[in-house]
Amino acid sequence: MIQIPKEVYQDFLRFALENANPLKKSRYWRECIGLILGRIDGESIIVTDIIPIGSGSSVFVDISDYEKVFSLISFDRIDQGEVIVGWAHTHPGLGLFFSGTDIGTQITYQSMHPLAFGLVLDPTKVNPFSPGFNLYRVDSSTSRPYTVDFHFTEEFNYLSIYQQLTQELFDVTIPISEMVPELKAVNMVTWKNITLTLEKPSSVQKNTPFPIKLTLKMSRSQFFRVSYKLRIYNAKMSSMQDFDDSNEYFHETFDSGTLAIFSIVSDNPNQIYFQLEHMRVTDYRQKYYDSPALGIEVVSNE
Ligand SMILES: [Zn+2]
Repeated sequence: MIQIPKEVYQDFLRFALENANPLKKSRYWRECIGLILGRIDGESIIVTDIIPIGSGSSVFVDISDYEKVFSLISFDRIDQGEVIVGWAHTHPGLGLFFSGTDIGTQITYQSMHPLAFGLVLDPTKVNPFSPGFNLYRVDSSTSRPYTVDFHFTEEFNYLSIYQQLTQELFDVTIPISEMVPELKAVNMVTWKNITLTLEKPSSVQKNTPFPIKLTLKMSRSQFFRVSYKLRIYNAKMSSMQDFDDSNEYFHETFDSGTLAIFSIVSDNPNQIYFQLEHMRVTDYRQKYYDSPALGIEVVSNE
């Protein structure tokens, strides 16, 4: 049996989320890789640490690179019985599986130690019932990967750790309160217990960019992902964060999440119309709800 302490999981999840911030568009996400240290006692392994090695658009790291990494592990740790028990990498938004490359890497690890395992983490798969990762080994005769059982050394709530970390990272990367001060709700639409709120500054000027914030709120606390297609009438996007030409957006968040902050410009900023052509909200059980076409009118009575 493989035992994993909560802190080790938390640190690797943090590394994964730093490289695949759920508040950024997925095209900015990067995969990352680490080495797993632990102590082996007969058939059981206690994981002691995951050492981050690197991140990038592809996590293929040639085994020769590891020589450099192995040298980072201090001799003190080796004296205390810690050895490399496996490797960890992320598949942000891609799901939990072992690719062909992963199988090759894993075979190399197993040739060093037959109990070595590979951990694959997809931070988008964290939910109340799953920490968002699997452990794998490869069958030496068929070269097929199979999952390996593990347990945590203590019980904890996976989702609340995820929430805590994303909130911390969110605070570091996008200080919204500083970026867009004094927004007030100007309109709200509700559909199937889901509320969309649009906020803008209390006073705006013609032909001068101003921010609009779109927030989605679920009726009860839960993890969900949402994709939507948005049109704006009577205004143009002036500059935007994480928006592309297709106007099809994707987001993952909790019960209340900022979906987007647009900067828009209009010659009639007190009469703007947003239309959500479609919106799909998927919960952690993969159950989804499609919205009807929703119109949100931004009218200021100034
Ligand atoms: Zn992989």
